[in-house]
Amino acid sequence: MSLKESEALVIKSYNLSEADRIVVFFTREFGVVRGVAKGAKRLKSRFGSTLEPFSTVNLSYFQKDDRELVSIQQVELTRSRFGTASDPAFLAAFSYIGDLLTDFAPPHDADETLYRMITACLAAPENERDLSAVQLYFELWLLRLSGYLPDWLRCGSCGRTIGDNEAATIVSGFQLQCGTCRKSYAIGEISTEDREVFRNVQALSPQDFVEYSHGRNDSVAMISSVMKRIIAGVLGREVASGDSLR
Ligand SMILES: [Zn+2]
Repeated sequence: MSLKESEALVIKSYNLSEADRIVVFFTREFGVVRGVAKGAKRLKSRFGSTLEPFSTVNLSYFQKDDRELVSIQQVELTRSRFGTASDPAFLAAFSYIGDLLTDFAPPHDADETLYRMITACLAAPENERDLSAVQLYFELWLLRLSGYLPDWLRCGSCGRTIGDNEAATIVSGFQLQCGTCRKSYAIGEISTEDREVFRNVQALSPQDFVEYSHGRNDSVAMISSVMKRIIAGVLGREVASGDSLR
């Protein structure tokens, strides 16, 4: 049994028994960690309000080699996001992001890039209209970091680079097809604006992307719907997005 310490984000928690809760953290050092918070449901719990969703905390826990569920020792609040978590729209969006994270990230597998990305996503939206852009940002980067993002620079049929101002269609396997290879079985059209949004998710920080996304709602929705279909394919089930909960 060893004591481990890491900065962590509280993703969610649920009841285990009359007094205890299970808390899901995304830690900077060890990836997704699920632990038992003993007595967390008691009125005078030593955890106080540190286990609120999306708080940043310093976490220490004991882990037995053969157990996935760890024993939470101490949680020290470094940043509360109580305001965010109590707004229903923000809560829905970030719960969606938290669920995607735990669906994709294997337990106890450190991913510093993903940790920095989700932390930046939490800080990016200023109001409700920014949430769709933040969700798209997370969906696309999650797919990219897990190796599932299709290459939309090239035509999936002939391999030629598709020009920024060239029309393209999306075909099976979520590949793009250039105008020359164009067939009738395309799933849909991808406009040059849509592809610009797709490129800029990858080029900009979450904050800059949110800024850029204003006035581009249709393209954000279009690309997000494609990302959700890819995610559903990877997970083998549909995903309920924060949008549909709002
Ligand atoms: Zn082609």
